[in-house]
Amino acid sequence: MKINSEAEMLEFGQDMAKKLTLPAVIELIGDVGAGKTTFTRGLAQGLGISEPVTSPSFTISKRYNFPGGELVHYDFYRLEDPGLMSEELSETLLDPHTITVVEWAGGVTNLFPENTQHIQISLNDDGSRTISL
Ligand code: ADP
Ligand code: MG
Repeated sequence: MKINSEAEMLEFGQDMAKKLTLPAVIELIGDVGAGKTTFTRGLAQGLGISEPVTSPSFTISKRYNFPGGELVHYDFYRLEDPGLMSEELSETLLDPHTITVVEWAGGVTNLFPENTQHIQISLNDDGSRTISL
């Protein structure tokens, strides 16, 4: 699937939000700048979250409430030892009211349930993105 603009990526995230059933786990795969956080922003909008979604790179996780649940957004970029954060992630994954989105899952993919959705975003030479599910 081809995504031609940031607006289309937000729309894709919003559409995805409508199709999800709780609990859900989404692993986002793609280079820096591919659009993983932008997708998550669209997802949050689709869930009715009005708070702006920003990259959790420094805090590693960010949580946003929406009616009926919680979106938890992780980014394990350059975190060599997920340590305590992987324990937090495990607890989050046990919560039935949660949508968990993970960027740079690296060493924690073993914690993911079988029904985890893997979304790969690749950046094309013309600036568009290609999404593979
Ligand atoms: P990541 O989280 O994968 O590192 P971000 O979502 O933070 O990436 O950044 C993607 C950047 O690329 C944003 O500045 C966004 O505006 C820009 N961009 C341009 N075109 C697209 C597109 N088609 N899809 C997503 N982002 C795009
Ligand atoms: Mg990001």
